[in-house]
Amino acid sequence: MIEENKKGMLVVISGFSGVGKGTVVQHVFESLPTLQFSISCTTRKMRQGEENGVNYFFLSEEEFEGKIKRGEFVEYTKTFGNYYGTLKSEIDRPLKKGVDVLLELNVVGARNIKSMYPDAVTIFIQPPSIDVLKARLIGRGTDSQESIARRLKEIEVESKDIKNYDYIVTNKVAATCADEIVGIINSEHRRVCRQNLKNLFKSEE
Ligand code: 5GP
Repeated sequence: MIEENKKGMLVVISGFSGVGKGTVVQHVFESLPTLQFSISCTTRKMRQGEENGVNYFFLSEEEFEGKIKRGEFVEYTKTFGNYYGTLKSEIDRPLKKGVDVLLELNVVGARNIKSMYPDAVTIFIQPPSIDVLKARLIGRGTDSQESIARRLKEIEVESKDIKNYDYIVTNKVAATCADEIVGIINSEHRRVCRQNLKNLFKSEE
């Protein structure tokens, strides 16, 4: 019997600010409890309800730059004046153990991960419409007017990168969108290139 390769898979999720990535991703983890979240480092301020070591590792600029110098990041970027970066340890350890890793990254991070790990599956979450997105951004009340304007500008820039993703899903209802993502992950595991074809003629006895 052909066995699935035991190496874990990288799943990169991106989406515009305010698209509801967090809720969608939460639903994905409920359906796939063995999936591991790659906790990024950031220098941005902690938002209400966030926890250090759960949502992000919240670092000072000095701490972040120290990690850059020591080569601890597989990728990092500076957006909205804050650093964001993925630690090598957050992805290499689980991958070796055969555990799938979900990364929530901006378009720059997704592009960098895909060039380093071509097997990574990249998924872009789009809003049902730009008006719904604007309403969500204003409605969540966590960003200043200036920050909302900056995020809307960023959306324009980021939309040019959508064509580079493997999949695009729409977040109309978070649970439905999450089901689509779970379906993609399960299908990707069935791809022939991810199977261990050497075992085809191996007897099971
Ligand atoms: P937020 O401040 O809303 O949590 O995140 C801002 C943006 O940074 C989002 O698009 C998020 O996906 C992205 N992001 C979070 N962590 C990382 C990371 O480690 N690397 C990159 N490139 N982007 C990240």
